[in-house]
Amino acid sequence: MTIAENLRQVRIRMAGAAQRAQRSPDEITLVAVSKTKPLALIAETAAAGQIDFGENRVEELWEKAEAAAAAGLDRIRWHAIGTIQSRKAKLALGPPALQSHPGKGAVCMVHAVDRPKIAQRLSRLAADNHRQLDVLLEVNVSGETSKHGFSPAGLIDDLPALLKLPALRYCGLMTMAPYVDDPEEVRPLFRQLRTLLQELRHTFPPAQFQQAAWRHLSMGMTGDFEVAIEEGATIVRVGTAIFGHREYE
Ligand SMILES: *Cc1c(COP(=O)(O)O)cnc(C)c1O
Repeated sequence: MTIAENLRQVRIRMAGAAQRAQRSPDEITLVAVSKTKPLALIAETAAAGQIDFGENRVEELWEKAEAAAAAGLDRIRWHAIGTIQSRKAKLALGPPALQSHPGKGAVCMVHAVDRPKIAQRLSRLAADNHRQLDVLLEVNVSGETSKHGFSPAGLIDDLPALLKLPALRYCGLMTMAPYVDDPEEVRPLFRQLRTLLQELRHTFPPAQFQQAAWRHLSMGMTGDFEVAIEEGATIVRVGTAIFGHREYE
């Protein structure tokens, strides 16, 4: 199967899930997770019409964003989707030369802000670059200790301070569901994330908190993106179904 065909199949499955939930497919963004994959495959995917790409390691994101821009792939929007170590926070904003063109080869969203310290650091870096950074807050809804992210209750406690960081815009929530054989098992987790977003809209309304947008739910990967869409995902992050299996992580 070619990448273009894989992409087409994923989009058909996304549309089917949206239809089952009486949602418009237009409100769901597919992020193609290209981690470990070379630029040539990214170029092939972009040529098939894909615009949003995600990388979980910020070094790799930086290198690919630079290489893609140099190769003329300047329509790509990059998403930093993985956990960020504090000392590497700077890389999450992407190469400085691209930062003045958000949406044109630059990082457009950081998905996995999982602790106050990383939020503070990203806000400082974004302010230094005279830009506002769109972020999502990662929530550990499953409560698994191996997973990163705020607990739902911890997030509510931390938000008053987070919402004062000047250069971040809180666009919504992100979660990583555990790997399971049957995606129905993680449906309740996706539902919980959606409920939490609704709670945030009421408790920290955008009309009152300038930094709050509360628009997005980034949830769903190759094994469970259809269930995630049925439960309200606005962004799905899909790697394997588009690029095939990864040889390493
Ligand atoms: C790798 C990765 C994905 C995509 O995983 P697949 O199962 O290959 O679709 C999504 N989100 C994050 C944060 C990832 O690291």
